[in-house]
Amino acid sequence: MSSTRSLERHDLLIGGERVPPASDEYVETVDPATGEAFAEVAVADESDVDRAVRAASEAFPGWRDTDPVERGQTLHRVAELIRDNADELADLESRDQGKPLSQARSDILSAARYFEYYAGAADKLEGRSVPVGTGQVDYVVREPYGVSAQIIPWNFPGNLFARGVAPALAAGNTAVVKPAPTTPLSAYRLAELCAEAGVPEAAVNVVSGAGETGAALTDHAGVDTITFTGSVRTGQRVMEAAAGNVTPVTLELGGKNPAIVYPDADLEEAVSWVERGIFANAGQVCSAADRAIVHEDHYDEFVERIVERAEAYELGPGAEDPDMGPLNSAEHFERVRDYVEVGVEEGARLATGGEAPDRDGYFIEPTVLADVDNGMRVAQEEIFGPVLTVIPYGDDEDPVDIGNDVDYGLVAGVFTNDVRRAHRAAQRLQAGNVYVNKWFGDTNQTPFGGYKQSGIGREKGLEAMDSYLQSKNVAVNLEEGSGGDLPGA
Ligand code: NAD
Repeated sequence: MSSTRSLERHDLLIGGERVPPASDEYVETVDPATGEAFAEVAVADESDVDRAVRAASEAFPGWRDTDPVERGQTLHRVAELIRDNADELADLESRDQGKPLSQARSDILSAARYFEYYAGAADKLEGRSVPVGTGQVDYVVREPYGVSAQIIPWNFPGNLFARGVAPALAAGNTAVVKPAPTTPLSAYRLAELCAEAGVPEAAVNVVSGAGETGAALTDHAGVDTITFTGSVRTGQRVMEAAAGNVTPVTLELGGKNPAIVYPDADLEEAVSWVERGIFANAGQVCSAADRAIVHEDHYDEFVERIVERAEAYELGPGAEDPDMGPLNSAEHFERVRDYVEVGVEEGARLATGGEAPDRDGYFIEPTVLADVDNGMRVAQEEIFGPVLTVIPYGDDEDPVDIGNDVDYGLVAGVFTNDVRRAHRAAQRLQAGNVYVNKWFGDTNQTPFGGYKQSGIGREKGLEAMDSYLQSKNVAVNLEEGSGGDLPGA
């Protein structure tokens, strides 16, 4: 749909230039606090994606062969530029995504940290030698794949751009980024800052659009590795598409994360962490504290205290830096409201919230569903909104078993003052990240990713480099002659 209203227009970024899409199709991006469109963004079709992949492919040898020290220095400059432009980027992100300004700012500063962290890794991507006996030399080098496709969701758009693009570039890959259709703006701005810092212009390309654009990218034979962050269902499609060209995939998918509150936990602390874990970013967080599994000794008090905190939240447009902003889109707003209804129909008690305040935009009150059974849909499916489910457990039940009893395995948390209990639970929890007496315990430098259906591979930390480097073994014969026995003889 092409709009005739005068909205600011964002074209594709291909080969260092802002170019209109081949189809001349644009979609509006909406301020979720008002429901009003404020910009229109190009929709890339297959031919645009092809141009972007070709541009990234042509830029690859030059960037790969750039001295790693220089690659690192360039990425350091990207980090500096992000910091210098943090206010502008935070405003943009807050308006496009809906999140409170201070959260948007923190996401952007963390994006700068990704560039800084991986800048430091660029000249330390060492291989190793393998002892294979005298007369032989054998070594392993780590090489970039080539073109990295980065498909990102709408909950942390700028931050996730950096989480994938920074290590991809540090390793010597180039990138084609496909942001989510409702939050494309920060990706364009960040890609421009990469070029301003000295990353070759065609090394970071951005093609906005929805599922068709993403599918054109994952189907493309010129893509050498795919990093996808999003839902399990789309992740499965991405994996199927990747099979066509045997392209490696890193999948960062959803979660339904247990927060176990043991009887010896400091209740006030546990309530604080769970509150932040479920209501930050209006619950639109893959690692949200979705399921509080609380011992019956202090279950009633836990519910009472978290309800009290939920009811104190002030909702408002991101620009006013409220406690909580709106959900990102009308479609998602409907989805979250439906889940509240489903929970009540299933027999959960609506302890607070569930309503949409009488105002424009996609706001929903912080919500607590109590007396939830782990078999209910609201305990098994990712709601991705500010909806906490609270599940009581007694002495005859194992909270770790309840915690593990979902298809997901992204993060898990335990609240206890017993060090043995904490470590025993950490050993048994099926999750890529376990937090003890805290929530959101991962940082830029700690590996992050899912067990079970929550994903494949790891982002963040040095482990992320494994998604952007493949190893090559080189075997050298130092002796003359035609050789001896076959291997294994
Ligand atoms: P989504 O799966 O609907 O979309 C993610 C991205 O994939 C978007 O850019 C979308 O346009 C694109 N896409 C859609 N169909 C595609 C296709 N067929 N081929 C290729 N790309 C396609 O997810 P969403 O609703 O945007 O994001 C929310 C989900 O992301 C939640 O499940 C959340 O848990 C997950 N998430 C995970 C992490 C993590 O690190 N594990 C981080 C953030 C969000």
